[in-house]
Amino acid sequence: MKENDTAINDEAKTPVSFIEQFIIDDLRDGKNNGRIHTRFPPEPNGYLHIGHAKAICLDFGMAKKYGGKCNLRFDDTNPVREDVEYVDSIKEDIHWLGFDWEEREYYASDYFGKLFEFAVVLIKKGLAYVDDQSAETISEQKGTPTQPGAVSPFRNRATEENLDLFYRMNEGEFDEGSRVLRARIDMASPNMHMRDPIIYRILKIAHHRTGNKWNVYPMYDFAHGESDYFEGITHSLCTLEFEVHRPLYDWLVDHLKTDDYRPRQIEFNRLNLTYTMMSKRKLLELVKEGRVSGWDDPRMPTLCGLRRRGYTPESIRRFVDLIGYTKVEAINDVSLLEHAVREDLNLKAPRVFGVLNPLKITITNYPGEQTEQLEVINNPEDDSQGTRTVPFCNEVYIEQEDFMEEPPNKFFRLAPSREVRLKGAYIIKCDSFRKNEKGEVVELFCSYDPETRSGNEASNRKVKGTLHWVSARHAVDAEIRLYDRLFNHEDPAGQKDADYRDFLNPDSLKVLTGCKLEPSLAQAKPLEKFQFQRMGYFCADYDSKPGKPVFNRTVSLKDTWAKLNKEA
Ligand code: ATP
Ligand code: MG
Repeated sequence: MKENDTAINDEAKTPVSFIEQFIIDDLRDGKNNGRIHTRFPPEPNGYLHIGHAKAICLDFGMAKKYGGKCNLRFDDTNPVREDVEYVDSIKEDIHWLGFDWEEREYYASDYFGKLFEFAVVLIKKGLAYVDDQSAETISEQKGTPTQPGAVSPFRNRATEENLDLFYRMNEGEFDEGSRVLRARIDMASPNMHMRDPIIYRILKIAHHRTGNKWNVYPMYDFAHGESDYFEGITHSLCTLEFEVHRPLYDWLVDHLKTDDYRPRQIEFNRLNLTYTMMSKRKLLELVKEGRVSGWDDPRMPTLCGLRRRGYTPESIRRFVDLIGYTKVEAINDVSLLEHAVREDLNLKAPRVFGVLNPLKITITNYPGEQTEQLEVINNPEDDSQGTRTVPFCNEVYIEQEDFMEEPPNKFFRLAPSREVRLKGAYIIKCDSFRKNEKGEVVELFCSYDPETRSGNEASNRKVKGTLHWVSARHAVDAEIRLYDRLFNHEDPAGQKDADYRDFLNPDSLKVLTGCKLEPSLAQAKPLEKFQFQRMGYFCADYDSKPGKPVFNRTVSLKDTWAKLNKEA
């Protein structure tokens, strides 16, 4: 049993979805010999995003829960946009999320031969014809939902002629766009997808797997249901926009099937997130135009971006459980995703000290040559994480924002003549400070009370504030990248009169250098996660080098964004 097996079942604390209910009923009725077999069918034309995670958790999750199988099938029917780089990243991301397709890695392109044969069968049955009109003309003839479409002058072509032309299309005799193969269904159907849909088009372009073998390529609708059928899929789960395609899916399967078995398509609502856009095409634009550093930029909603940001697979699966599956389109609040990662990291991430904007303190009554190793707890939520030591000496850094020269009443941090506790160390009092020529406070002079070392009895003396700190002589210098939402509009891609680029948040990335971290973090490995006390959850970036760590802030400890928006 893999590590993830229990986690997924544990997470399924939400009531069963309508889809799960269908599956339970089908299994009870012994449909398809009591099998459950699903598939996840990504098009390899981009990296997976959090929306795909919703589909993956359902496809793989249902199969796993009910003792079935889930195939990974690359829907690679459009050679124009597809690439092997995407195939590899998709596999990596699915494994990372905690799912496995075993040996069942399939490609729609593997079925090009069978699909071509099926098209020939349809032609022979009088159910498909070659249309010599352009795609534009065909679409003009489609009619409207209330008006029937116009019949193509080629609709009643003789079977022999259709067959001859279709073979010649594939041999490369005709130009792209000069002819298509259409299913002969019903030009008056109230469902536009049933009005003699195009099922094959000419594309004279090399495919990343089949090379120049084919000059005709099947359309998505034609390939998808048939691929489901070839693989013995029982439940073909997809997003709501395919609901109107279902009659065509069923029509095609009915003309292919030879016994009782048939795959069934069930649709659910897409995942949409506030302040995020999910289209692969647009995400690719962001990458190509250099508006982000790549597909795995920690601001991207891609799985590789979220991973680099510090998200865990458990937190993403938990989020997907929380939002559930329905038949109603909705937009989910990105703060729920942030909540899920906080909840997970709270249990897992060791607490450490890191100062983002350092302000130096000299402790005037602490011996200059002395260093103490103070023992601190790694995670109050998990005793098994034990303790570690942090060095303390007469020079420490605290956050600049933790000192105010003229504090308001409710400021419980450091100020002239006030006392605070340095977490895990001593109570200190600010005696004086020094400013630079610009008038900024650059150093504090404090005295410490030796009786107040944490753990001592006298340490019970009350002070109102406790600050995180780092020993200046032992600190490791770090770069820290703080992220805010990539867009400053709730629905950046959904605005009629504006381009999503207009809503890019200019402050979505803030790079801090010269941050000071406790020495244990010098060797942090990429993707290692920590809670920097009081500052949030952080994850070491791929750019980290031994002794030169770079950290990404995954999420702050509190949702400051919601608060800011309320105040604005
Ligand atoms: P995009 O619109 O982002 O380019 P897509 O639907 O074209 O995505 P596919 O590679 O075809 O991407 O998607 C593979 C599977 O993932 C499909 O079954 C699709 O329904 C599902 N999927 C894609 N986006 C979402 C989403 N936002 N929420 C839930 N499922 C999704
Ligand atoms: Mg798609």
